[in-house]
Order: sequence, then structure tokens, then C-alpha cells
Amino acid sequence: MSDAIAKPAQKVGTTAVQRCIVPACAAQFGIREQIYVCPRCGGPLEIEIPLELLKSVSGLHERWQARAASHEPRDRSGVWRFRELLPFDDTAPVVTLFEGNTPLYDAPRSAKYAGLTALQLKHQGCNPTASFKDTGMTTAVTQAKLLGARTVVCASTGNTAASLAAYAARAQLQCAILLPQGQISPAKLAQSMDYGAVVCEIAGNFDDCMRLISELADVPSIYIANSINPFRIEGQKTVAFELLEQCGWRVPDHVVVPGGNMGNSSALGKGFDEMLRLGLIDRLPKISIIQAEGSAPLAHLFAGLKPSELAADAALPDDIAPVTHPRTLATAIKIGAPVSWKKALRAVLRTHGSIITVSEQEIADAKAIIGRDGVGCEPASATTVAGIRKLTAASKIHASESVVGVLTGHVLKDPDYVSHYHRGTLSFESVTAEGTPKPVQISGAFRNAPEKVAANKEAILKSLESRR
Ligand SMILES: [Zn+2]
Repeated sequence: MSDAIAKPAQKVGTTAVQRCIVPACAAQFGIREQIYVCPRCGGPLEIEIPLELLKSVSGLHERWQARAASHEPRDRSGVWRFRELLPFDDTAPVVTLFEGNTPLYDAPRSAKYAGLTALQLKHQGCNPTASFKDTGMTTAVTQAKLLGARTVVCASTGNTAASLAAYAARAQLQCAILLPQGQISPAKLAQSMDYGAVVCEIAGNFDDCMRLISELADVPSIYIANSINPFRIEGQKTVAFELLEQCGWRVPDHVVVPGGNMGNSSALGKGFDEMLRLGLIDRLPKISIIQAEGSAPLAHLFAGLKPSELAADAALPDDIAPVTHPRTLATAIKIGAPVSWKKALRAVLRTHGSIITVSEQEIADAKAIIGRDGVGCEPASATTVAGIRKLTAASKIHASESVVGVLTGHVLKDPDYVSHYHRGTLSFESVTAEGTPKPVQISGAFRNAPEKVAANKEAILKSLESRR
């Protein structure tokens, strides 16, 4: 690295601070203090990067691009090649599985389905453990090493657990994961077991697991790696940088993400904001969040905001009404009390995006359409295309605008769901207005079930002809 870049970058790593995002508090804490929320007011913490140190540095774009062709471990990571903007110095014990550098696909069938001229899908399922969580786990587990933690812990709907288990194994740290018993895709559970984590199946839902995590946070040898951890967001924000690089530094009009615990949308908001403040882009994309109908606390809150509360600089509400029994087959976003909702709402308000819901049927059909573009994603990821379709129909997105959907997990994360959809046997337990359970059959509108074909050439050709 040239001196002109190395010195400011070193300084960024050592002079970054942790700051409370509650404006009335805004307390500041050292970058190596082991805290997860503001010790003064309980508000969420955010890492503040001293961007002014980098403003005089030229050639950042070229430097980041050049690293993609290098074989140095940090350069091969799509997170650490943007290290000038990470709160670590050059001596940090980087724990990497060469995450990031994920593809941005053109998706013409999905575009047509969503009412757009063109649509691009950024596939974060192409990370080492097949979900977007890896980009944040590399930085969080590196911080755990720096702090001398013995054990890393998270609560998870599956993807976070798989990711933390893998990075802990790389770092040779003990890993414990808290999962809601019986509510996790078997594929995700299998990953955690394979990476050697202590898997604790809790008799409760994800929000019960989160409560236990907050009780473990005061054990000094334990480091909490849930998305409330601000170092996760630092790694995940690099997805915004990488996306801009892939777009030739032309800012897309819209970036659309699924909404679960909200770390993803928070991180993208921070990443784009830092690029704007550094002068590397001249505007922000509109960030929109899509939630599943039965698990949509932030969409409900957003729908109830008054016009004055929708302003880019509006004060954020103090509380969110949690969904006590979140319901969706998209288990990765089955979260009733998202921890990062304030940061996510701030990102949406600042960029004039939207927060909406989609139904189980809409998610399932969108997932099948994404598959027809040759791109396999897990159900939660498909909220993006389902949501874009609704936003286009409502004229919140125009057909000719540039739109990127962020896919968060790989299709093999939940193969049972896919198989049931295509065989026409996918069902969902909804509730009536009175609260009684009501099974709902999801129709496989784009189903593609296997068919029995006789063992001869003519039968195969006949089958092909009938499906043309
Ligand atoms: Zn505070």
C-alpha cells in the first residue's frame, strides 16, 4: 500500500469510536470497549469512522479495484479490501473466509415479472456459508479475537448461527448458538453442527433467544455476535461499496432488501452514507425494506407515521410494537422484535424509500421466478422481487429506473420449501382475526414438479414437447 493511503487508513483504524445513535445522548466510547448498547441510555451503538482523514486521499476506487486481483488474504476478501473504512489497524488478527465479492446478476425474467425494464440481483447467498451474514461476521469475530474473548455467542434463525460457527472455527474460538427449537431449516442447523458449534435448542421463539443473549452479555469472556453488535454492521456496509463498484460508481435509483432483524438495511444505509460523505458518490439510492405479512413490525410502524415523521431528518420513534408470534415460512426473517429497527428506519427515511409487506403466496411465486433466471435464493430473499412488483404497481418505482434487489441467502439453505412449492404441497399456518390457527395452502403458480416418464427416447421427446 502506498504511504499516501496507508497512513490515513491506519489512523482511521485507531481513531474510530463507538457512538450512541440516540441524538439526545450521542455518548462516545472507545473502539475496544466491550459494549453492545449504550451504557448510558441503552440506545444502539454505531461505529463512527473519521472520514475527514480519508477525504484528501485520492485513488481509493483504483486501490480497491486493484486488490481484487491480489492474492494477499485481506485483499481476497470483499470486505477487507475496503479496509480504509473499517475500524481496525493493519495489525488486526483478520479472520476471513474470503467473503464478499458476490455476483450482481441481470435478471430479465424477474424484471418482467416485477414490471421493470431491467433488474439486477446482488446475490449475497454466494458467500462462504451461503448467506449475507459472512460479510459482518468476519469483522465481528476479528474484534472478538482483538478483545481476547474465549467464546462467541449468537441467537439466530439459522443463517447467523451457520456463519458465526464457521468464523469461530477459523479463529479457533468456542462458539455457542441459541436457536428456537424446531423452527430452523435443517440445512442451516446442519451447517452449525458441522462447524463444531455448541448448539443450544431453546424452548421458545427467536425473541426469547435474544432475551437470553442480553443476559449473557455481561460475562467478560463471552463476546456477543448478534446484529446488535456494531462491528457486524461495519463488515456488512462494504456490500454497498462493492455494489457501487459493480455499477461503475453510478448510483442505482433503488436498492431493495428483505427485513428481518434489520442489520442488512442498516448496514447498506451506513455504507452508502459514508460513500456520499467521502464524495465518492453524489446521491443516495432509495433504500426500501420488504417484510413478510405475518412478521412485519417495522412495516406496521412505518404505515402509521405521519407526514412530518417521514422527513429525512425526522426524530425516530422511541419504541416499536413487537409482533408476539411472528409467522412466515421465510424463517430467516421470522422476527417479531428486530434489534436494528432504528438504524434501518433512519436509512429508509434519509433516502426516501418505503417499507411494505408481501404475502406468503407472493414470496413463493417471486422465489420461483428468480429461479427461472438461474438464480437460486432462500424464501426470505424473494421478498425483494415480490416487494419490487408491488412498489412498481404502486408507482413508487418506475419501470425504467435502475433497481437492485439484495438476495440474502442461497437456495440450498431451505430445500424443503422449494420442493414443496414445486410439488404443490407448500402450506402455511396463518391465524384468523380472532387468533385461531388457519392452514393456508400456497398454490404453486409456477410449479415445476418432476414427472414420471417411461424409459424410452420417444417418451422423453414427448415430455419435452408438452412442456415447451
Ligand atoms: Zn446513549
